[in-house]
Amino acid sequence: MEKTKLLIIGSGPAGYTAAIYAGRANLSPVLVEGMQPGGQLTTTTEVENFPGFPEGIDANELMDNMRAQAERFGCKFILSTVERTDFSASPYRLWLDDGSEIEADSVIIATGASAKYLGLSDEQKYMGMGVSACATCDGFFYRKKVVAVVGGGDTACEEANYLSGLASKVYLIVRKPFLRASQIMQDRVLNNEKIEVLFETNTLGLYGEDGVEGAHLVYKKGEPEEKTYDLPIDGFFLAIGHRPNSEVFRPWIETDETGYIKTIPGTPRTSLPGIFAAGDVADPHYRQAIIAAGSGAQAAMEAEKYLSTLE
Ligand code: NDP
Repeated sequence: MEKTKLLIIGSGPAGYTAAIYAGRANLSPVLVEGMQPGGQLTTTTEVENFPGFPEGIDANELMDNMRAQAERFGCKFILSTVERTDFSASPYRLWLDDGSEIEADSVIIATGASAKYLGLSDEQKYMGMGVSACATCDGFFYRKKVVAVVGGGDTACEEANYLSGLASKVYLIVRKPFLRASQIMQDRVLNNEKIEVLFETNTLGLYGEDGVEGAHLVYKKGEPEEKTYDLPIDGFFLAIGHRPNSEVFRPWIETDETGYIKTIPGTPRTSLPGIFAAGDVADPHYRQAIIAAGSGAQAAMEAEKYLSTLE
C-alpha cells in the first residue's frame, strides 16, 4: 500500500500546479494522472491566453512542461484513476482502478470537468479539426469563418456572442423552440445580427474532407414538417453543459446540485479537513487554465498548512 502526506488527483493545470508548489514545499506529493494526462486542455491545439507565452504554446507542450516541472520537484506520478474512496476518517483511503490502495493525510481533488458532447461519432472524428467545446480557447482560429454553437443555455449564448466578435456568421442550434438562457443573454443573442438562431433543430452528423465543412441538421424531427438539410460551417462548438468529475467523492464531501465541489469562498477548502478542491471540479463559471493553475497553487499552500498542524 502506498502512503503519502499529500495525494493530488488530476493532471490538468490545477493538479500539476498543486504538485509544483507541494514539491517545492518538500511534501513529496503523489499525483494520480487519470486516463487523459494533461486534462481537458489536451483536446485543444494552441493556447494563446496563458501568460508568459507571447507567441502562444501548443497545449500538449504546455501540459508536458507543467508535468516536467512537477517531476523536477519530486512529484511521483501514477497513471491510473481513483475508483473508490473512504474519507470517513483520516488518514484518507483511496483505491485505484487496479485495486491498489493509497493512504493519504491530505488530498487535493483536481479532477476537472468534462464537456458534454452530443454522442455523435463525428464529434470524435473531427475533434480539434473543427469540433470544440470551448469558444474562448478555440474561437480565435475561426476569424471571418462560419461557425455553429449547439445549446440554448447561458453558456451557448455567451459563446455565440463571443464568437460573433470573431467569426463572420454564427448559427445557434437549439433543440427546443425557445432559449433556456437568462433574459439578458437571450436579448444579446437575438439582437446580434451576426447570430442566426435555428430553433427546433438537432444535429445528425458532420461532414468534411480534412476538417469540418458542414453539419447535417434536422428541423422538427419526428413531426410532419420534418426537414433534413446540410449547413456549411467551418467550426462546430458544443455548449450543452459540463459535468464535474466528482462522482467518486460525493459520498463524503459537499457538492452543489450539479456536482461541483463546494469550497469555502475564496479558499480551496471543502467540507472535510485536509481535503481540498482546485480547478474546474469546483468552478462552474470560469473554466480557464490560468484560473485552475492559480487555485492549484492555493490548494497546495493550504495542504501544507494543514499538514503542519498534524505534526
Ligand atoms: P444548461 O444546462 O443551462 O444549458 C444546456 C443547454 O444545452 C440547454 O439549452 C439544453 O437544451 C442544451 N442541451 C443539453 N443537451 C443537449 C443535447 N443532447 N442536444 C441539444 N441540446 C442539448 O448549461 P450551461 O452550460 O448553459 O449553464 C450551466 C449553468 O451555468 C447554468 O446555471 C447557467 O445559468 C450558468 N452560466 C451562467 C453564465 C452567466 O451568468 N454569464 C454563463 C454560463 C453559464 P434544453 O433547454 O432543451 O434542455
